[in-house]
Amino acid sequence: MLSLRPNCECCGKSLPPAATDAVRRVMLALRPNCECCDKDLPPDSVEAMICTYECTFCSDCVSTKLKGVCPNCGGNLERRPIRPAARLLKDPASTERVFKPSGCTTPT
Ligand SMILES: [Zn+2]
Ligand SMILES: [Zn+2]
Repeated sequence: MLSLRPNCECCGKSLPPAATDAVRRVMLALRPNCECCDKDLPPDSVEAMICTYECTFCSDCVSTKLKGVCPNCGGNLERRPIRPAARLLKDPASTERVFKPSGCTTPT
């Protein structure tokens, strides 16, 4: 497990906690549902798909309605990595549901 050591092993320079805070801020939010159909997508769901901005959809909507393209930003959607249960205890998934059924079609 990452122990967040306080200094550089090479030169001994101290690495303030701000540096590790920055790492934490880029952590995936792991949203709990599909924006399109409001289907539940728990952190260990293999159906969850995300774009680079973490717009979150289920694989059904991605393949049938969105054709693999995020309707919000136009980027591609990929399988969301699964966060191991042990890490979820420390870094829990987001509980903030995002549901935008009107935005479920790919802009043409
Ligand atoms: Zn869906
Ligand atoms: Zn997006």
